[in-house]
Amino acid sequence: MTPASMSSPQLKRGAPNYVTALLFGLVTLGAVIGVPAFAYFYGYTWLDWTMFGLLYVMTGLGITVGYHRLMAHRSFDCPNWVKAGFLIAGGWALENSALKWAADHIRHHANCDQETDPYNAQRGFWYSHCGWLFFKDINANEKYASRLRQDPVVIWQHRYYLPIVLSGLALTFVVGFLHNGWIGGLGCFLLAGVGRTFAVLNSTFCINSICHLWGRQPHGQADSSRDSWLVSLVTFGEGYHNYHHTHQSDYRNGPRWYNFDPSKWLIFTFSKLGLASSLRTTPNA
Ligand SMILES: [Zn+2]
Ligand SMILES: [Zn+2]
Repeated sequence: MTPASMSSPQLKRGAPNYVTALLFGLVTLGAVIGVPAFAYFYGYTWLDWTMFGLLYVMTGLGITVGYHRLMAHRSFDCPNWVKAGFLIAGGWALENSALKWAADHIRHHANCDQETDPYNAQRGFWYSHCGWLFFKDINANEKYASRLRQDPVVIWQHRYYLPIVLSGLALTFVVGFLHNGWIGGLGCFLLAGVGRTFAVLNSTFCINSICHLWGRQPHGQADSSRDSWLVSLVTFGEGYHNYHHTHQSDYRNGPRWYNFDPSKWLIFTFSKLGLASSLRTTPNA
């Protein structure tokens, strides 16, 4: 689908980004054809499904807690080795390095709904969901990355991003291979590697698309951000996006005790274990 607003004369887009388009295409084909085909011919084992669930949780939280709340918003502090753990898990989600991801995200908050918003929802559902990835970014601005470049863990993860990605995919194959040889390796790679990557990618994309198009705005109407508890169920609490846009540095996205926000619970638990500190909240929000 072509975003309706693309025909608007003031909206410009960069040249096609063939590398990202090819990678995303391969993951999508693997997930919608390879994963069910393997299920039909061989079937998945309990180990494949366990690895799928484990890696969905690990890589999802790597993005929401590590990339988003820690790196983009500095909503809490933690020791470097804990940060490195979050950034490895986030790297396994194949959403680019934390440096690029967080710089894009800081720019999203600073320019929400404008041409310079990397995933501007005013361009329609598909553009903000994944279409923005297929064009080279003509509005990238170094100023949003400068603070992140001061962080040695971020620079380390950016430099070794490719080996980190490959290690995550290799892990699924090795675990399956040890359990059931080559077929076991292929099955675990397809379900917990390719299928899980597709699932986590799309759940993250829903925050940029659904949470800027549909839902309630109980905390403010300064931009198009919306709360969607449904999206929170698959994104570890990130669906409370209207609250998040209104109170960006709050370590919680769902501030109430009954809001489904596992990212908030993990950060809180880490603070009780001495692994996180300086949790930021918005008083009386
Ligand atoms: Zn947003
Ligand atoms: Zn944010």
